Amino acid sequence: MAQTTSEADELDAVIVGAGWAGMYMLIKTRQLGLRARILEAGNGVGGTWYWNRYPGARCDVPSLNYSYSFDEELQQEWHWSERYASQPEIERYANHVADRYDLRRDIDFGTKVLSARFDEGGNRWRIETSTGQTYLARYAIFATGGYSEPVEPSIKGWSSFAGDSYFTARWPRTAVDLTGKRVGVIGTGASDMQTITAIAQENVAEVRVFQRTANYVVPGRNRVMSPEEIARVKDNYAEYRRRALQAGSGTVYDGPVATISELSEEEFEEHMTEALVVGGTSVLGGARDLLTNAESNLRVQDFLRAEVRRRVKDPDLAEKLSARGHYLGSRRVLIENGYLEVFNTDKVTLVDVSSDPIIEITETGVRTESGNHELDVLIFATGFDSGTGALSRIDIRGRSDESLAEKWSAGPVTYVGIAVSGFPNLFSLAGPGSPSIRSNVMVAIEQHVEWLADLLAHAEARRVATIEATPSAEVHWTRHVNEVVSKTLLPEDETQYWGVNVPGKPRAYLAYVGGTRMFRTIIDAIRGSGYEGFELLDGSGTQIGDASLEWSGPPSEAATQSRFGTEII
Ligand code: NAP
Repeated sequence: MAQTTSEADELDAVIVGAGWAGMYMLIKTRQLGLRARILEAGNGVGGTWYWNRYPGARCDVPSLNYSYSFDEELQQEWHWSERYASQPEIERYANHVADRYDLRRDIDFGTKVLSARFDEGGNRWRIETSTGQTYLARYAIFATGGYSEPVEPSIKGWSSFAGDSYFTARWPRTAVDLTGKRVGVIGTGASDMQTITAIAQENVAEVRVFQRTANYVVPGRNRVMSPEEIARVKDNYAEYRRRALQAGSGTVYDGPVATISELSEEEFEEHMTEALVVGGTSVLGGARDLLTNAESNLRVQDFLRAEVRRRVKDPDLAEKLSARGHYLGSRRVLIENGYLEVFNTDKVTLVDVSSDPIIEITETGVRTESGNHELDVLIFATGFDSGTGALSRIDIRGRSDESLAEKWSAGPVTYVGIAVSGFPNLFSLAGPGSPSIRSNVMVAIEQHVEWLADLLAHAEARRVATIEATPSAEVHWTRHVNEVVSKTLLPEDETQYWGVNVPGKPRAYLAYVGGTRMFRTIIDAIRGSGYEGFELLDGSGTQIGDASLEWSGPPSEAATQSRFGTEII
């Protein structure tokens, strides 16, 4: 039977999602003395790292960097074993955090949020869930992640395959035995690449990779870290975190930095060789003009294509695996550990579906124009409804029953990615319009959570009943988001960051690409002004404080530069 939280049980805050953002937000709301609960669809913590447990799943941001920085004891006590942490290790870390701060007592697992409605009379949110339980709370905080909703492939008959099929983003918790199996993988994005590399090393009979678009490849150079390497960071962790923030994308990199267009041939060779030795994001992070100068981008592309030819024995295959036709960095670059080499084995076959298109998926495999590919297992890693997917699947209604999905029908409109006019006391953490999916999301999350906690403290201390972005502030911010991206090469390519991989989704850039450092500068200034661009009303509808209802705008350098070229994720 449906249950509604009684008045007495009414919460101060409902937080949706028990990933990094949700867990940290719970810690912060508790510190503010607020009664908060997390509602989580899964049965464990970790968000992305709870669901994406496919073979080879690994983070490609260095583990010492892809971790919470808010508690010195936590960052000192946790031991990361490898340069890039594997999914099991990251999930263990998420569980450690949940235990360490005793978070589980305030998390309802197996609880999917279906709708959230603002009750204007009571200034509270009514949140309905899959369990039948309804929650009432003053604040509704969405920590739902940028890659939470996998998209089904637009391939005829995709669900008619009679063998076992899996989505990487919904990989089972029980072991999947691929021994002796003929496995097909649809897609060659970051998730597919990791899956392919891992299963090619298992005892499978064959892996058939269906590639529509080749992506640029950069070696990750994963390794077990030595105690000295870890100590170098931990001995001065604050400085390491500061460097991450300064890097723009929130990711520390140790490679050489240059403006590619200024390098002589010899200097360029030297720069790229060194960047590839360091590996990871150093190629992207080390090229200042990568996404603002087409010639520089082509120069780096050529270098990476030569690398593919060097590593893949068969020249035809190397050509097919070489990305071209889009700018390096406009799509997610594959930071790999042995991906190209698996194509040198007899076990792995590439099917180039750009020249031999998939006609349909049948009961027994995949039929392309040239023939049938008989398979026992089919794996889909066909992408996500990025940025807005989770929010758009919840029926969110603000003042006057306005629907968030309808408001965003031409693309997301937010104020600093966190608030939306017409939706008082509703917040989105690392959501669209913030650095989010084009940054080290850990940094983006900590920025948003800490900033929101300060805003809530400000509001609580002044008995503010509703916090709401003003229409002009969100229009001004959204214009800034679009202006910054328009100064890069990113608009030239159709990518998931524009939402184009989801039929019917409006074309709008889903993240702020001004960088985590600039973002921090901007939101700190908003806080310093007493929260300009927000309407802070008390119970009688009177504005509290004297901050401007307009956003005064970004610092002048933010209007004319993007962090792209400094480092991208
Ligand atoms: P993705 O980058 O969107 O890749 C989806 C793949 O599926 C693409 O190769 C796409 O081809 C292919 N595809 C989709 N529909 C298809 C169809 N009908 N026929 C043939 N191919 C089809 O998705 P993802 O690899 O899951 O990555 C999503 C995001 O997750 C990344 O941007 C990244 O931020 C994150 N991620 C991070 C890590 C990490 O290490 N931190 C690891 C994995 C993922 P087209 O390109 O031709 O559309």
